[in-house]
Amino acid sequence: MPIKEACGLLGIYSSQPDESIARTVYYGLFALQHRGQESAGIAVSDTRSIKYHKGIGLVSEIFSEEDLEDLKGKMAIGHVRYSTTGSNCLSNAQPLVVKYHSGELAIAHNGNLVNAYELRNDLEENGAMFHTTTDSEVIAALIARSRKSLIEAVIECMEKIRGAYSLLLMSKDKLIAIRDSNGFRPLCIGSYNGSYVVASENVAFDTIGAEFLRDIEPGEIVVFDENGISSHKVITSRKSLCVFEFVYFARPDSVIDKVSVYQTRWKAGAILAREHPVDADLVVAVPDSGNVAAIGFSDTSHIPMGMGLIKNRYIGRTFIQPSQRIRNLGVRLKLNPLKDLINGKRIVLVDDSIVRGTTMGQIVKMLKDSGAKQVHVRISSPPITHSCYFGIDTSTRRELIASCHDVESIRKLLDADSLGYLSIDGLIESIDMKEKDLCIACFTGEYPMQIPREGRKYLFEKR
Ligand code: SF4
Repeated sequence: MPIKEACGLLGIYSSQPDESIARTVYYGLFALQHRGQESAGIAVSDTRSIKYHKGIGLVSEIFSEEDLEDLKGKMAIGHVRYSTTGSNCLSNAQPLVVKYHSGELAIAHNGNLVNAYELRNDLEENGAMFHTTTDSEVIAALIARSRKSLIEAVIECMEKIRGAYSLLLMSKDKLIAIRDSNGFRPLCIGSYNGSYVVASENVAFDTIGAEFLRDIEPGEIVVFDENGISSHKVITSRKSLCVFEFVYFARPDSVIDKVSVYQTRWKAGAILAREHPVDADLVVAVPDSGNVAAIGFSDTSHIPMGMGLIKNRYIGRTFIQPSQRIRNLGVRLKLNPLKDLINGKRIVLVDDSIVRGTTMGQIVKMLKDSGAKQVHVRISSPPITHSCYFGIDTSTRRELIASCHDVESIRKLLDADSLGYLSIDGLIESIDMKEKDLCIACFTGEYPMQIPREGRKYLFEKR
């Protein structure tokens, strides 16, 4: 489904100089690759200067043995990016490295600011020069231009910026992890061999053999330096953890703020089966986004589940433009129906969400062309009616099918035999968190803060 991820972060503060620190970050970034596939980078500090390497593409495409060999030090931060402000180009790849009064700073950002445009205007009027079209550089500029100590500059910056930001900041002698006061995006701390690790999701710890210690709290600044680890809680506001981290964004084997992503998706499927029961022969997931909810639906409805759609795992990104004939095949490039399994059956097709409806319509048609007697679509989240401004690219509001169609009209457009969405109450029940601690604005339009006008992704390119 075409919701686009935002970014993933990984940082290490090692107790000793570590020759293989960049290599460890590199492997950790593999575990976070689902959070962004457009560009990636690693910056390393040896306590004197910062070196970095970044590029466009997947982690596996960007770093060579020599690149990693060249990045030695005591601290490192890594980033995988999907662009939510600014286009996908090398200058926008992160970590960004900037100069400030005490040397260099590297910054890696997951999220999206809602007041970056105004802040950048102010900074430019006061002589700041920008080299990227990202909102992350606004954060870097605010911190770098302050004459205060680094921690005081971070606090001052947090008082000015609004929106979603999980951040890693690295100076020559400090690694700083920051989570915005709403806690939109996750960020957690682990450790291995006396070193500290910070990551967007704890799955990265499993990959590099680190142990989970704790989540970073909304509004918390955690500093790692020669004195060990210290925490500063400076700004508090209503927690608004993004519900889409559970619905789609995070890996199912992650645990966010003590809640298992796998369990929430399974429960969402189970509640969906209760809310929208149907007489059918086979539950089929749209791989991989619908997999876990489909298991929950099947376990609860006692309708057997089968792999009716096989995903081509290698088509993900291609720079070769397909010919018109191949383009017309649409979703067939990615998914192939298992005709023998589908033929003559009443299918329950489970996915996590519908954004524009084009892909889902093509899948329903593909199943019917493969002999399905009926196709009942079940969606393990409520209809998406509003855009996201906090680091997930859910398309503009007018592109969202549910912003201008009711459920019955969407069913007709999809040519499905029935269509059922999980209710908002059902979604919250599945997450097992208080509603007041979640952002559910893309289903309700009730944003946790004032939002800018639409279409801000390329705002700085248009200037
Ligand atoms: S608007 Fe939607 S996608 Fe964006 S942070 Fe809120 S719940 Fe998440």
